[in-house]
Amino acid sequence: VARAPDDPFAALNPQQRCAVEHDIGAQDPRPLLVVAGAGSGKTNTLAHRVARLIGAGTDPQRILLLTFSRRAANEMTQRAGHVLQRVLGTGLSAASPTLPWAGTFHSIGARLLREYAGRIGLSDSFTIHDRGDSEDLMGLVRHEIGLSQGQKRFPLKGTCLSIYSRVVNSREPLDLVLKSTFPWCAQWEAQLKTLFGAYVDAKQEQNVLDYDDLLLFWAEMVSDPELGAEIGALFDHVLVDEYQDTNRLQAAILTGMKPDGRGVMVVGDDAQSIYSFRGATVRNILDFPQQFSRPAELVTLDRNYRSTQPILDASNAVIEQAVERHAKTLWTDKLSSAKPQLVLIPDEAEQARWVCNRVLEHREAGIALTQQAVLFRAASHSAALELELMRRNIPFVKFGGLKFLEASHIKDVLAVLRFAQNPSGRMAGFRVAQMIPGIGPATAARLLDAMSEAADPLAALEAFAAPARSAEDWQQFVALYRALRAPGLRWPADIELAKNWYLPHLERMHDDAPVRAADVEQLAALAGGYGSRESFLAEITLDPPEATSDRAGPPLLDEDYLILSTIHSSKGQEWRSVHVLNVVDGCIPSDMATGSMEEIEEERRLLYVAMTRAREHLQLVVPNKFFIKQQSQMGDRHVYAQRTRFISPAMLRHYEECVWLDAATLQQRKPMPESVRMLVRDRARNAWK
Ligand code: ATP
Ligand code: MG
Repeated sequence: VARAPDDPFAALNPQQRCAVEHDIGAQDPRPLLVVAGAGSGKTNTLAHRVARLIGAGTDPQRILLLTFSRRAANEMTQRAGHVLQRVLGTGLSAASPTLPWAGTFHSIGARLLREYAGRIGLSDSFTIHDRGDSEDLMGLVRHEIGLSQGQKRFPLKGTCLSIYSRVVNSREPLDLVLKSTFPWCAQWEAQLKTLFGAYVDAKQEQNVLDYDDLLLFWAEMVSDPELGAEIGALFDHVLVDEYQDTNRLQAAILTGMKPDGRGVMVVGDDAQSIYSFRGATVRNILDFPQQFSRPAELVTLDRNYRSTQPILDASNAVIEQAVERHAKTLWTDKLSSAKPQLVLIPDEAEQARWVCNRVLEHREAGIALTQQAVLFRAASHSAALELELMRRNIPFVKFGGLKFLEASHIKDVLAVLRFAQNPSGRMAGFRVAQMIPGIGPATAARLLDAMSEAADPLAALEAFAAPARSAEDWQQFVALYRALRAPGLRWPADIELAKNWYLPHLERMHDDAPVRAADVEQLAALAGGYGSRESFLAEITLDPPEATSDRAGPPLLDEDYLILSTIHSSKGQEWRSVHVLNVVDGCIPSDMATGSMEEIEEERRLLYVAMTRAREHLQLVVPNKFFIKQQSQMGDRHVYAQRTRFISPAMLRHYEECVWLDAATLQQRKPMPESVRMLVRDRARNAWK
């Protein structure tokens, strides 16, 4: 192969190159599995392979690239673009390739289902329920078939949905799932069966799909040999990142599309599997070599390019203690004398202050804020830190946790669009109808019944006898709906119409309307970036803008800001400096997760994922006391905490221990009630006045 002078493949190590060059130019490339530890260049190798394939003549349209988030897909496309530019040489101005089929399993599934809807008996105007809608529908059905009355201990709608989802994703029968994962619900097996049957019927009647359906219908579609071959033939190559976090359905999708594994390449790390609570299973990695009609090639990588040796030593020590041993010890040539810090701190407020100080110190030393991250187990754990950051004017962006789309006013606007797209969708219809003054649940239900029974839903809406009180509001709504269903409407005009109709209602319903209105404007601005109403609704439901910053739009992107993220959302990323908050028992492992050994082991891998995000500096913070929000009647409270059990006394030699304030003396001190502290502080602050 003729290489441009600037050879981007020269930096690859022999194993990475082996994966990149695997069966290039072959008629039917064999399946390939890359298993390797954190930071060993799996994602990087995938990006190089994409570039190599395109360089060797593969049409980018025929590459299916499946990633864990839309952000990861975009990053990978960019990386591949850079490599390709260098492959083609400086003389050619190769625009970075756009990979039209790069995305998450769910979003690609939604696209394929839309295209193939007619062939599998779906209507192509289906809308997608997010987790909240799905729970609500489950709750509604549960109520309708009488399971929520009188039987107090029947599982809540959220639990019912989790059980259903688990059954679908794991492809295991209900009784097994109940026994293994939800033993306290096992007595309800018969009722759950009835409930799930009714739930599935309701989805079909309303022409909606939930998240699981996107995988399920895709898997079912490709399990038909003819359709499977047809869809498989769309792609020459199918590449999957983070394979350890896929479930049985996703594995079945690969086999359905490519029974002989032709052109299939997956990369993953069994030590980083952190999504089994959603039905993901490392069995997918273990089974991959035998999954297809031909055995897969295996490549392992053991050189870490990300972290310094002391950081690796500390992370390796955590994972080596795993019950299921992961026999991969990574090495690096990045020597450093700086050990990770284990910081003992009195409480979360001090933790916040200490982290801020350290972040600023690092910035002084030349590490930009965007190169620093603070990670935590649960989105709520960053509350104290967020306050402190705001107080000190340190800009930050938070990933994971409450999403933009969960705000009720954003849901309102999206419901309007969904209802226009799919008049049978009752969750959206219910929400919209009740925004009209004078229309309550009973009238809304009558309206939706009339619309779903009519051949022409718009005509049914126009003919509906709305309560007299709604007079003008009703007419306005009818006009809106007519406009939204008009054939010639060009996206994003839809969202302008919806917005203009909604804003006056917003003012009527909320005191803080201006703040919410700004969000709605932001949503409208975001909408312009999508090609159509369908793709906007699907994408935004499946892969919502994650960070609170996404709503602030481009300006923030040039600024320097600190990254706050849940550990789950930090997957695949790296920063020069990483802080992990609340490295205590009760947080990691979470006290919600200490039910079984499997759960505890997953928490260990979670800590491993967090630690291996760090390139140069790693700080684990251990507050002596932390605050927990309680679901029960006991109310919120402070608890005294212990360093996580995943760092045994023998492992302390891997750390530089810092004691911010002497914990022993602090324990003897009586904690002040919050009210007293505030009083003292405020008095001190106002003393000069
Ligand atoms: P994770 O398991 O966390 O997803 P990964 O195995 O996907 O990690 P990458 O993110 O691809 O690892 O790579 C980690 C870092 O190492 C990146 O900064 C990448 O640019 C760098 N890297 C990978 N391979 C090489 C190489 N051959 N030479 C130099 N740097 C490399
Ligand atoms: Mg990766």
